[in-house]
Amino acid sequence: MKHILHLKCLICGKEYQPDEVTYVCPAHGNEGILDVVYDYGRIAPHISPTSLAANRETSIWRYKPLLPVAPDAPTPPLAVGWTPLYKTDRLASDLGLQHVWVKDDGRNPTASFKDRASAMALVKARGAVSSQQLAVSSEQSPNLPITTASTGNAAAALAGLCASVGQPNVIFVPKSAPEAKVAQLLAFGATVLLVEGTYDDAFELCLQAAAEFGWYNRNTGYNPYMTEGKKTVSYEIAEQLGWQAPDVVFVSVGDGCIIGGVHKGFKDLLALGWIEQMPRLIGVQAAGSNYLAEAWAKGEDVLTKPPIKAETVADSISAGLPRDRIKAMTAVTQTNGAFITVMDEEILAAIPALARGCGVFAEPAGAAAYAGLVKAAREGLVQPADRIVVINTGSGLKDVAAAMKAVQGVGVRPYAIQPTLAAVETVLKPGG
Ligand SMILES: *Cc1c(COP(=O)(O)O)cnc(C)c1O
Ligand SMILES: [Zn+2]
Repeated sequence: MKHILHLKCLICGKEYQPDEVTYVCPAHGNEGILDVVYDYGRIAPHISPTSLAANRETSIWRYKPLLPVAPDAPTPPLAVGWTPLYKTDRLASDLGLQHVWVKDDGRNPTASFKDRASAMALVKARGAVSSQQLAVSSEQSPNLPITTASTGNAAAALAGLCASVGQPNVIFVPKSAPEAKVAQLLAFGATVLLVEGTYDDAFELCLQAAAEFGWYNRNTGYNPYMTEGKKTVSYEIAEQLGWQAPDVVFVSVGDGCIIGGVHKGFKDLLALGWIEQMPRLIGVQAAGSNYLAEAWAKGEDVLTKPPIKAETVADSISAGLPRDRIKAMTAVTQTNGAFITVMDEEILAAIPALARGCGVFAEPAGAAAYAGLVKAAREGLVQPADRIVVINTGSGLKDVAAAMKAVQGVGVRPYAIQPTLAAVETVLKPGG
């Protein structure tokens, strides 16, 4: 892959060729996260805003020359990405703002943003297995499983993508994962390990198992290519806005891989000269899972800051030790952005507010990004004329229990009635 210059360790700066290392910097173990560095001069002849305007591919693969895959690499059939970007004037004016868009990534095939990364994992894993087979001969099983730990969505995404091509996979999720996410895993035919413990426990166990059994490891903040799948959201936002980058992007943050990917995508576009400015990236964390927000506010070093105890209704952003914390911190500091925190009550209230304001139904972690915008608007962190994008990272159907709690919280309930017109009239009567 000549369009990749090298993989660079974010701790020591050492550079590796893609075939030298599979996941992390050997000198830095599990913390040695690598960044994929491209040769934009080699990419530019193969893709441009003009070529994209004529490209009928409506998935992340429309940006294939900008991704760490060979031009002829087979891609899975599920349609990942190219999700809608809705202009939401009603929500905007409620907040005293003029330009707010919602990028609805709940519209992905398994209903979360994580499909972007899992699709990449599948393509990379299949590439890795075939080159291993060439080198190691027939002892290698042709279909070694892909594995990941997950709070639920990365797992559902991996299981769904794998199901689309008949690829075995082994999933580690905390026992507390919402039922809908576990149901997805089982329906897709994954081998599901419900770990007695937190996401962080599941993560450590998954790393050990992958190393022990030689499985392909999709883990967030460990596999360097997950950022590369996630960055496609920024390409889409820029393209959907006519290559005028927004001023501010709100995204919820757990491990920090998504916000790192958002940053990477806009950096690529700046390097190519397709956009003129880097948006400010606002990372929204739950108050009960605020590792990065706290580190940012206090100027702490994320390489030495110990894990916290994470607890929030937004299970997808519950992370005691954010695995992609280096990229996440860089995304905020280099873009003059900020981390903000929102309480669980604010997150829950954001679910019906977003749904009523623009018709997008989000799971708690997705609504958290909107809760962050509400707070930012209240505190003057954004200006009325700012062009603002809020990313909804997951569908509300992922966590129906939280959605029910959210609507009860704003005092709405269904009316139980007899099957008569009179009963309907009674309910609809003013004060009825
Ligand atoms: C994973 C996830 C996030 C957070 O992404 P990180 O990379 O862990 O910061 C936010 N929302 C949803 C719905 C997710 O599944
Ligand atoms: Zn290193």
